[in-house]
Amino acid sequence: MAKSSTTFTCSACASSYTKWSGRCDGCGEWNTIVEDKGLSKSGPSGKSLGARRGSTVQLTDLATKEAPPPRTRSGIDELDRVLGGGLVPTSAILVGGDPGIGKSTLLLQGAAQFARSGLKTIYVSGEEASAQVRMRAQRLGLTDAPVQLASETNLRDILTTLENEKPQLVIIDSIQTMWSDTVDSAPGSVSQVRSAAHELTTFAKRNGMSVILVGHVTKEGQIAGPRVVEHMVDTVLYFEGERGHQFRILRAVKNRFGPADEIGVFEMTGSGLAEVTNPSALFLSERGTPSAGSVVFAGVEGTRPVLVELQALVAPSPHSQPRRSVVGWDGSRLAMILAVLESRCGIPFAGLDVYLNVAGGMKISEPAADLAVAAALLSAREDAPLPEGAVVFGEISLSGALRPGPQTENRLKEAQKLGFTAAIAPSGGKPIEVTGMSLRQMGDLIQFVGDIFGAG
Ligand SMILES: [Zn+2]
Repeated sequence: MAKSSTTFTCSACASSYTKWSGRCDGCGEWNTIVEDKGLSKSGPSGKSLGARRGSTVQLTDLATKEAPPPRTRSGIDELDRVLGGGLVPTSAILVGGDPGIGKSTLLLQGAAQFARSGLKTIYVSGEEASAQVRMRAQRLGLTDAPVQLASETNLRDILTTLENEKPQLVIIDSIQTMWSDTVDSAPGSVSQVRSAAHELTTFAKRNGMSVILVGHVTKEGQIAGPRVVEHMVDTVLYFEGERGHQFRILRAVKNRFGPADEIGVFEMTGSGLAEVTNPSALFLSERGTPSAGSVVFAGVEGTRPVLVELQALVAPSPHSQPRRSVVGWDGSRLAMILAVLESRCGIPFAGLDVYLNVAGGMKISEPAADLAVAAALLSAREDAPLPEGAVVFGEISLSGALRPGPQTENRLKEAQKLGFTAAIAPSGGKPIEVTGMSLRQMGDLIQFVGDIFGAG
């Protein structure tokens, strides 16, 4: 057999390279590329199978009907929704997030609820001693839940225990602390993390258990991030939040058993994470009286409409290169909106610093936010507030045309529920009937500028 060739992998974004370099082209981080020893080769080898024949795999046709997987609900609705309606048996889930954001709290609460729902649950902490986990459980009021704890990092011992105990759900906190003695590198390295995740997920699938892996997002090269194991699991969730803000968002970025982009919203309280059943009300709670530069965007996250406030500030720049600063939205998308406003509507932003902020620390990726961003920028530039009680949404194309996004009706209903009386939206698409709300529909950005801000 040829000797295995060495490859290099970025520990932050999992891009792979044939040779080492200081900066990763994939994610732009420095010193994150490390040598990857790879998984041990254990697949079939040789041209003919000979005596090492496997058993025949059962084949089905396309018309074969399979019942939808039975799911166990934790009773934490925000968690169940993100999972696609509850936990699917023998599924592998990765929960990533920044250190200290509250992943362990979330998963201990989840473990307790799944255990109370009748799943035999084991929580393995490689980060903390069992006593520390118990203390957290006490603080969260979970000590009565039938969760079994272990504090261990040796993968072989963990797998042996799981084989004897046969749980239905095992939580590994975190995958970076696990080490397998079959891999010759330090715990937390790309090869160790990959190998541990591979062994745990295949073991879980073979033995009919679900596994949840916790992964810290890191920017250090020596510790591999959760991206390196994303491809091995069925579901990838990220737990997000801004320091200084109370609430946390659990976001599905991949889900074989449900819609991606679904979010669950939680509030961090003294007694753990509390569900936020009406996120719009929370995101708008810090909003004062409507002022110039502030716009309420009627967005959709997964299957659920969510209203958020966008804030813009436009000021003369003292620099030769004006600042463009964005929090919670895509910087290149902002550049595009500014270019469209300038070239299609004749509204220049040259010589002006532009700041855009999604209030409350929420992150938006929907293109339907375009029109709300444009409205916030124009409102800030003209120092003119938008019509009171109005929400805005719609995608802007490079020609300046406005396109309706999906779920117009849901957006309007959510706005109405929260007391908004008007909406500014693109024309076209299905005709919409919403009683008790004035809907102003427009075909392009020039019309929008004229209608809302006078001639601009
Ligand atoms: Zn990278």
